[in-house]
This record gives sequence, C-alpha cells and structure tokens, in this order.
Amino acid sequence: MSGQGSAVAREASSRRTFAVISHPDAGKSTITEALALHGQAIGEAGAVHGKGGRKGVVSDWMAMEKQRGISITSAALQFTYADCVVNLLDTPGHADFSEDTYRVLTAVDCAVMLIDAAKGLEPQTLKLFEVCRHRRIPVITFINKWDRPGRAALELLDEIEERIGLKCTPLTWPVGPGGKFAGVIDRRGDDAAEANDMVHFERTPGGTREAIQTRLTADKAAARFGEDYATAVEEVQLLTEIGATHDQKLFEAAVTTPVLFGAAVANFGVAQLLDVLIEHAPAPAAREDAEGEPRPVESPFSGFVFKIQANMNKAHRDQVAFVRVCSGRFERGMVVTHAESGRPFATKYAQSLFGASRDTLDEAFPGDVIGLVNATALGIGDTLYVDRKVVFPPLPSFAPEHFATIRTDDTSKAKRFRRGIAQLDAEGVVQVLYSDRRGDATPVLAAVGTMQFEVATHRLTEEFGVPTTLDHLPYELARRTDTDSAEKMKRAPGTETFVRARDGVVLAAFLNKWRMQTVKTDYPGITLEPLLADA
Ligand code: GDP
Repeated sequence: MSGQGSAVAREASSRRTFAVISHPDAGKSTITEALALHGQAIGEAGAVHGKGGRKGVVSDWMAMEKQRGISITSAALQFTYADCVVNLLDTPGHADFSEDTYRVLTAVDCAVMLIDAAKGLEPQTLKLFEVCRHRRIPVITFINKWDRPGRAALELLDEIEERIGLKCTPLTWPVGPGGKFAGVIDRRGDDAAEANDMVHFERTPGGTREAIQTRLTADKAAARFGEDYATAVEEVQLLTEIGATHDQKLFEAAVTTPVLFGAAVANFGVAQLLDVLIEHAPAPAAREDAEGEPRPVESPFSGFVFKIQANMNKAHRDQVAFVRVCSGRFERGMVVTHAESGRPFATKYAQSLFGASRDTLDEAFPGDVIGLVNATALGIGDTLYVDRKVVFPPLPSFAPEHFATIRTDDTSKAKRFRRGIAQLDAEGVVQVLYSDRRGDATPVLAAVGTMQFEVATHRLTEEFGVPTTLDHLPYELARRTDTDSAEKMKRAPGTETFVRARDGVVLAAFLNKWRMQTVKTDYPGITLEPLLADA
C-alpha cells in the first residue's frame, strides 16, 4: 500500500458517518445539538435547525421551511470526538415523507434510532427502519425522554423485538423509572457488565451544557438509590440470563441493536451514545460498484451524489450537489470525472458549510460529505472519480403513493415550465412521469409524500416564475412494468401507465390494491414488479 493509501485508510478508519431516524418530536433536533455540544464542531452543512427559538444554524433556503418550522433540507454536521471525525447527516424531520430522507440513508454507515420513551415505535420510525433493514445498515437505539414518565424499559425492548425483529442488547440500563432518572448501569465492556457500576447524571444549572456525570460503584449506588438501583440490577441480570448482550458481529449484521437510555434535553446519556458510536459503529468500508465489485477506501478518490439542492442560500443562487466520499482523498480544486457523462468536473467550489455562512473545504476523506456548488451537470446517484473508473449503483427510486398532473396556463412560460420540471426531476424532488395520452405539456408528478408536491409547486413559482395548476390523480400505488404489458393494460379501468423521465422505467399506477388484483387476473402474464418501498 502506498504512503498515501495507508494515510487514507487511517483517516477512513477514524470516520463515523451516521443519521438519526425518528418520528417527529422524538427529539432529533435536541439530540443533534447535544451531540454537537459534546464534540468539537468543525463544520455544519445547514444541519441544525433551531426550532422554537432554540439556537442553531438555521438553514433558511426556503421561506416555506421557516413558515412551517421544519427542515426540508438535509445536509451534514461534522465534529470531532475522541480522535474521531463524526459526520451526522440530517434527515428531514417533518411528518410527511420525502424520498430525500430515504436517500440520506444511502450515504451513512450506521443509524441511530431515536425513540420517545412514552410513545415507543412510531410510524415514521418504522418506515425509516425498513429502509435501514433493506440496506442492512446497523442500528443503535437511543430511548429518549427518560426524564419524563413513560413506558417500562423491558416493555419497550419487547416492542422493538416483536414489531421489527431486532434483538435488543442494552449497553446502558436506566436506574429509576421514566421521570425519576438517576443514571444508568453501564454494561459496556466485560468488567463493567459484571460490576454493575452506575453512571449518575445530574443536570447542569440551566441544563444547556454537558451533564455532570459521576461513576458510582455498586455499593455507593445501592446506598444512594436503594430500590431503584436494586430493580435495575435485577433487570440487568435478567438481560444477561437471556443473552441480551452486545455482540459486535451480530450488530454489524443488523441482527441486534445496542440500546442506550437518556434524556437529550438534559444531555443525559449523550456522551455514552457518542462513545458507543466511536467504539462500535462501523467505519467507512469498501463500497460496491454497479457490478458488485468493492472499491477499497484507499483507492483514488470516488464518491456519489446523494442529494441535490438548488438555492440553499438566497444570497448565492446556485445548485449544490452533496457527495458522500467513498474512497481516496478529496482535495479542493481537483478535477474529477463525472462517470455518467465521462466529462471532467472542476471542484474549485467545494464547500463544507451552508446556511448562514459558508466555508470552503480543502480536503475530505471516506465518510465525509462535500457540497459541490454550481453542479448543474450532476444528477442524483451520479458517480465522481479520479484515476480509476468506477460507477456506483443508481440510488433507489421509491414507490410513489401520490400522483398529480401539473401544467401552466401561461403559454408564454412553457419553456421555463419545462426547464423547472427538468430541474426538479434532476434534484429528485419529485418523480416526473409522461404518457402519450397526456402529452409532453402535462407531466405527471409522482411522490412518496404529498409535501413533495408542495415543494415542487412552490419552487416553480418562486424560482422559475411559473404559476402552475396541480390536479391530484386518484392512484394510490405503482408497480414497475414493461412496454408490452403497458399496451395490454391500456384499457383497464382505474389503471394508467407512464414512462419515468429519469430512467425510462415504465410504471403502472392503480387506484388501489384491489384494482391491481383485478388487472392481474384480467391480463395474465403481464409484468408487475414491486418498487423499493414494497421490498
Ligand atoms: P424533533 O421533531 O425530533 O426534532 O424533536 P425536538 O428535538 O424538536 O423535540 C421535540 C420536543 O421534545 C421539544 O419540546 C424538546 O424540548 C422535547 N425533548 C427533546 N428531548 C427531550 C428529553 O430528553 N426530555 C424531555 N422531557 N423533552 C425532550
């Protein structure tokens, strides 16, 4: 291995790249801020969105985002902790879904599943978890809000095991029921597991800084927390008896999930979460190319675009492509090759920071996220590389559940309308579909969540100056099909077929699953394959 290669391998092994998956209100923004507080922030790519007047780096690229108090953008927050560089990729936290959230999960090596102790598993957490399962991403579970009355710890573990089939292997265990949170028994490391040491948490005055943590031996903990500590010890013994003990291989294979307890709002348990991420979360590893051939992290630079965003900052009207580095050292100014077009792409304007201010980025390593400005030639899922060619597999397109036609009544703006639609398609804001029947002037937009439509129409008005009319279509599900089958289904009621602009995939949309069943029976031999969300 060359000197450069081993230096890159060393940098890669010190990276931890992850995202938090949760249902709105579980505490994602709070824990993001708490994590950043424990680390030394070195860059924030518009990730922390201050809500409810909390401080934060507000990414206000869109007025709509402000009005709703949500983040529609997703980018990365980078900080150092215990000699590691941690990249926390933001997943938009609104109640509706977008493909964006899913795509972020193609760029991480691990996920933290954040659960509200009073609510347990909630719908959005479940959906996001399914994506992790599909991609075999290891998951660390953080049970949040233990400072408030909630459900029993063992009951929460049962729910996780029963509903999603992940075996829970707690690394910390709460002393005191929800609302009476004194600290955790530390099950990390062989010695700790035997000793039943307790980490006692105390709030700092004001609660905004790191919590005060004191390690107590079993004797001291028993003397101070009597019954609560005794109960916790009994439960921990039970966990050991049933084999609920961390196993690194099973965790990496996404069979088990280490579980931690905490209260992000008071910074309780956040340091342990970071320690577990550093110690157990996988570092960036060789990524498989489209042929299934792994590209080692020490190979020359390569990366793929997992997100594209236009006009993140009103002061700089431009388009930014977010690239996850997969191999090699990225250096600003490097000329890389865009695999899809074969063209060179200059990276003079590589950035690591967005939002209120921007920083240029000088170098990056596997696991890091770089923002390339003025990247209009790049599309979602595209590969960039130097020296040795690589093409990474395309990013998954999800099964749309909402459909709508879009048109502009202002014929003088037809050209701008087309340009706008093409831009939204390239960014993956919505899926753009066409059909012969409707013609090119009336594309059909398809999305996983209806908010994607709002974003699309808002952007067409604000950025392209095109007023549009959106008409919802009644279809609820779609399947991948082919031209022959599409021809056969042409007259089937409650069914319509389209060609997806992005990749030429032929899609059949159905009113509902019963209608689809009828079509299957009426036209035997037609091709109908599930799209990713059904997998
Ligand atoms: P998000 O929607 O997942 O980003 O959730 P937020 O971080 O905005 O948190 C939602 C609400 O829960 C806010 O009012 C937070 O202050 C509160 N919250 C977050 N973490 C905790 C916690 O550990 N304990 C308590 N009691 N409240 C919390």
